[in-house]
Amino acid sequence: ELRVRFAPSPTGPFHIGGARSALFNWLLAKKHGGKMILRIEDTDLERSSKESEENIKEALRWLGIQWDEGVDVGGPYGPYRQTERLDIYRQYTDKLIAEGKAYLCYCTDEELEAERQAQLARGETPRYSGRCAALTEEERRRLVAEGRKPAVRFRVPENRQIVFKDLVRGVVTFDSNGIGDFVILKSDGIPVYNYAVVIDDALMRITHVIRAEEHLSNTPRQILLYEALGFELPEFGHISLILGKDRTKMSKRHGATSVEQYRQLGYLPEGLVNFLALLGWSPANEQEFFTIDELVREFSMDRVAKNPAVFDLDKLNYINAHYIRRADPALVTELALPHLQAAGYVQEPVTPEQRTWLVQVVAAVQDYISYAAQVVDHVDIFFKDEVEFESDEARQVLADPDIPRVMAAFKSKLDALQVVDAPAVQAVLKGITKELKVGGKKVYMPIRVALTGRTHGLDLDKFIALIGKERTLVRLQQTLA
Ligand code: GLU
Repeated sequence: ELRVRFAPSPTGPFHIGGARSALFNWLLAKKHGGKMILRIEDTDLERSSKESEENIKEALRWLGIQWDEGVDVGGPYGPYRQTERLDIYRQYTDKLIAEGKAYLCYCTDEELEAERQAQLARGETPRYSGRCAALTEEERRRLVAEGRKPAVRFRVPENRQIVFKDLVRGVVTFDSNGIGDFVILKSDGIPVYNYAVVIDDALMRITHVIRAEEHLSNTPRQILLYEALGFELPEFGHISLILGKDRTKMSKRHGATSVEQYRQLGYLPEGLVNFLALLGWSPANEQEFFTIDELVREFSMDRVAKNPAVFDLDKLNYINAHYIRRADPALVTELALPHLQAAGYVQEPVTPEQRTWLVQVVAAVQDYISYAAQVVDHVDIFFKDEVEFESDEARQVLADPDIPRVMAAFKSKLDALQVVDAPAVQAVLKGITKELKVGGKKVYMPIRVALTGRTHGLDLDKFIALIGKERTLVRLQQTLA
C-alpha cells in the first residue's frame, strides 16, 4: 500500500508551496488508492502555534485535501503530533547510544561557535570536530559536574557514498565526509527535524516522501539514520522550488504567498488546486483546466519537473476566472460581500432583498472578474447615482441633436412600465428606435452614457432592470440637466 504524508511545521501562514506539496502527495495517494497522513512537526517550540496548525488544517480542508490518518482523525501509528512523540524519539536514541551509533555531547553553544569560527578562519568547511565522540568516563563526569546537559549526536560513518534515486531529480550522490556528527536530540529532549522525521516516516510506514527541494540536502543525513536504525528506506521525491516571475525565490514581494490570502480574495479552491497542480507538474497534453478527478487520473511523479516552477499570477487569475464564471452567483456574492462592505458599498446587516439584488449584480459582472474581490472594481455603476463621464468622448455622445427626443421617449416609456425587468426594458428600447425611426446605436449609446458615464459595458436592459425605474430617472435628470 502506498502511504504518503504531509508534515508541515505550524510556524506561520500556510504557504502556497506547502499547499502544493500537500496536493502532490494527496494526488499520488488518490491515484494509487493509498493513504495520506497529516503529521504536525511542531518541535520548534518557540515558533510553533496551535493557531497555525488550525490554519493549515482549515486550508487543507478548504482545498479538498483530506487526510486518512493524522492529527484530529487518528490512526494506527499515532500520535501524529511530534511533541506528543518525545518518548518514542528518546527510546530510539537510547538504542542508538547503546549500539555506539550515537553519543552524548556536552559542548556548549559557545564552544561550538568558537570551533566553527576557527575552522572558517582556516578556510575549512565547518563541521563538528567529534570532540565528545570519545570522552573517557572521567572527562564525562567532570562535564556533568559542571552542570552541563548533554545533547545526543549521531556518529556519521566516514567515507560513505550516499546514493539514492530521487523520483524527480534522478540519481543523487552525497559524500558522508561532508557531514559532521550532528545533533539528533537536543539537551532539552527535543529531537531535531532530521531525526524525528526519519523515526516518524518509518514508524508511520511511509512509502513515498514527497516534499520540497529545500530538503534534498537533508536527505543524506536521513538516509544514514534510516540505516543506523535498521529501517527500510522510502522513495524520495523532491519537488522544485517555486520562483516569482522575476526568477527569484517566491516571497512576499511577489504578492500574496499564503493560501489564506487567496481564500480571502475570493479565489475558489477548484481554481487554486488546478493552478497548484500545474506548478511543477505538467500533463501529457495541452489541457489547462482540470477537475480534481481528472488531476487524480492524470497525475504522475514522472511528469513532475526538475527545474523551478514559476508562480505566474496572471495564470492563476486566468484559471480561477474559468471557475468563477461557472460558479453559483450566490457563492461569488458571499465571497465578495466582505470586500463590498470594505469598499463601503454595502452595510451590515444585509437584508434578504438586498442580498437577492446583490446576487443579480454579481451575476451581471461575474464574467469579467478573476476572483470575488474584483467584483468591487466593476460595480460602482450599480451603487453611485452621480454619473461620472469616463472621457470627453463619452460626454460628446450626449451632444447629439437627436438626444432630447430619444431621452424624452425613453423617460415616458420607462415611467409607464409596471414591471421593470430586462425584457420590458428591452421592449422599451426597441419601441423607441421604431417610433423615432432612428438606429439602435442612437438609442442605446446615449442612454448607456447618461446612466453610467461609459460607452461600453454590461447589457443595458439588464442594467436598467437592476437599478430600477427610480434610480434610472434620477440619473437621467442629473446627466441631462
Ligand atoms: N516539517 C518539514 C517542513 O515543513 C517537513 C519536511 C518533510 O516533508 O520532510 O518543511
